[in-house]
Amino acid sequence: MRVLVVEDEHKTASFIRKALQAEGHVVDVLHDGSEALLAAANTPFDVIVLDIMLPGRDGLSVVRQMRERRITVPVLLLSARGEVGERIEGLDAGADDYLPKPFALEEVLARVRALGRRQSEAKTPVLRIADLTLDSVTRKVKRGGTPIDLAPREYLLLEFLMRSAGRICGRMAIVEKVWDYDFDPGSNLVDVYIMRLREKIDAGFEPKLLHTVRGVGYVLKEPS
Ligand code: CA
Repeated sequence: MRVLVVEDEHKTASFIRKALQAEGHVVDVLHDGSEALLAAANTPFDVIVLDIMLPGRDGLSVVRQMRERRITVPVLLLSARGEVGERIEGLDAGADDYLPKPFALEEVLARVRALGRRQSEAKTPVLRIADLTLDSVTRKVKRGGTPIDLAPREYLLLEFLMRSAGRICGRMAIVEKVWDYDFDPGSNLVDVYIMRLREKIDAGFEPKLLHTVRGVGYVLKEPS
């Protein structure tokens, strides 16, 4: 994979670069947020490891700008603080995963591998979680072989949740990806659609796949 590491602490950047290279990845390193945004727009990276505290432009702003420009490369955010609020802000800004500092190098490698895997899975036409399937070519959805009728927006919501399976999707991220709004519509729009989707894909089926993460968002996953 081609990985971009954006971190202004040279020692940390160098650690991560060496570890990723040892796993066979091609690694670019930048130390400035504005340069990172420019590079992301011009180079097809497979994964970006992005520190939040950066000169030029902070990591949250970089990821927000990337998503606005429809740059969909998976982003792993790194943060020195690791507060829950910042984590939610990062996921809402459009980051895919989050790692508080200090972190074990092994943890960074595992997260990068997982993000790269999801990226290649995103190119497969049939998405599957338990006995729920979504064919992104024919747009047919089935649960346990039973066809499920979805309204167009419900379909887009389910596709987004399935492509993000196992990851928590914040309301703002859902609004941006599914409705294409870059503002908070300020209503319970997402919750209403989630409720309808749950009625269709989970009611009468086991196990339940669509879960609420209170105060944060939603996640589609098989119970562990
Ligand atoms: Ca930093």
